Amino acid sequence: MDEIRIENLKIFANHGVLQSEKKEGQFFYINAVIEIPLGKAGRTDALNDTVSYAELCEVMVKEMQAKSYDLIEAAAMHLIVHILSEYKMIKRITLELRKPDAPIDASFDSVSVRISRARHKVYIAYGSSMSYEKNGKVIESPEIIEGALKMLSDDPEIEIVKKSEDIVTEPYGGVAKNMFYNGIICAETFYEPEELLDCLHSVEKSYGRTRDVHWGDRTLDLDIVYYDHEVIKTDRLSIPHADMQNRDFVLEPLNELAPDMVHPVLHMTTSQLLKLMKKCK
Ligand code: ATP
Ligand code: CA
Ligand code: CA
Repeated sequence: MDEIRIENLKIFANHGVLQSEKKEGQFFYINAVIEIPLGKAGRTDALNDTVSYAELCEVMVKEMQAKSYDLIEAAAMHLIVHILSEYKMIKRITLELRKPDAPIDASFDSVSVRISRARHKVYIAYGSSMSYEKNGKVIESPEIIEGALKMLSDDPEIEIVKKSEDIVTEPYGGVAKNMFYNGIICAETFYEPEELLDCLHSVEKSYGRTRDVHWGDRTLDLDIVYYDHEVIKTDRLSIPHADMQNRDFVLEPLNELAPDMVHPVLHMTTSQLLKLMKKCK
């Protein structure tokens, strides 16, 4: 991928755990590697076809000085999320934030953090088959889903791009008893896969999700169906979702949003998977 690089941008700001750091301030230095397709600007010579490095520097100075963070980790992450949100042309940013005058009782040149985040396209399946009682008020499945999607879209690291129709389906797997409300969203996110899973779990938790019986009725279930075209297998994650190809409540709404998307392991489109599943039923 092509890159714009900014080296040793010097900014006076007030980040640090100590009160004296917040009060007196110190110099910070930023190295940023911005991954962005530059072929078009290279040929048209038009500023509109790229992102202005001058503007990026201005934004980084302004955002570094707008708020005081304890940690350079938090300051760096704030810059990354802000820049990826504002400049859709940018695919990835790797940002190093240096603090050469950090209050450390030892001899050193500099301390720094380096964080790299990119924009990713994900498909998330949602489902609910149980109401949830919060402060004496009963919230039914459609409202739980609406609230959960609002929580996701309020997250600065997630933007919902498309949502399927909700469908109402019979319980799956022979354990749950209630009807299920299901659907899929397509979203853009800056989260890494496990960070996205943590985020989904915390939304599930805020609607009282418990895990007593596997495949039992639940207030809210949020599953990652696809994360870009990646194939991931860890202790906590299987992506694509391991059982998606057998589930009409995943494939039907997914077919509405992405009929031609190819499953990276099965090498079949959503519409082909749906047809095959119906034939095997
Ligand atoms: P199923 O995974 O068959 O749809 P479930 O959604 O009811 O069943 P949960 O209890 O919600 O199961 O999830 C159990 C664990 O599955 C989670 O804690 C998570 O670590 C893991 N998991 C693996 N792959 C995924 C994925 N793609 N999306 C969400 N969770 C996943
Ligand atoms: Ca599930
Ligand atoms: Ca789940």
